[in-house]
Amino acid sequence: DNLQNNNLNKIIKNIYPLIEAEARRQDKFFSLDLDEIPEALLNENEIRQLVLNLVHNGLEAMSTGGKLTIKTSIDLNEVVLSVSDEGPGIDPEVLEKIGTPFFTTKCNGTGLGLAVCYSIVKRHNAIVNITTSPKGTTFH
Ligand code: ADP
Ligand code: MG
Repeated sequence: DNLQNNNLNKIIKNIYPLIEAEARRQDKFFSLDLDEIPEALLNENEIRQLVLNLVHNGLEAMSTGGKLTIKTSIDLNEVVLSVSDEGPGIDPEVLEKIGTPFFTTKCNGTGLGLAVCYSIVKRHNAIVNITTSPKGTTFH
């Protein structure tokens, strides 16, 4: 599986310029809130893909001026990654179906981003939690 001891914060810092540029192009804000966390067994390429897919969705969900936040923290000895947006939230009917390959509500979407995220998370023996409201969504 190519899982190696690595620090999630380091991986995020490596892709920070990409995310920053994508947000700036769209006139949206981006902030990082990285706590001190221990190393974990990570596949760096997969974690990059995971973060970028979540960031991409978060940015797409927001209009100009919205803020996207990437946060890392530790909860009960587990490393937590959170990607939050200030978009309109996810309707319950949509929430049920997301992560199903090819499910999309976008006219030019592939519906593959979250399916890929879910399989990456599974390979890391982790889980996905979503909190959503009309003020925004967070993928943990
Ligand atoms: P795609 O982005 O190609 O539509 P995804 O698998 O990445 O495919 O996302 C599936 C669907 O989940 C999206 O079409 C959208 O309806 C919903 N979704 C995902 N992330 C968000 C988000 N941050 N805010 C609102 N809806 C979201
Ligand atoms: Mg997507």
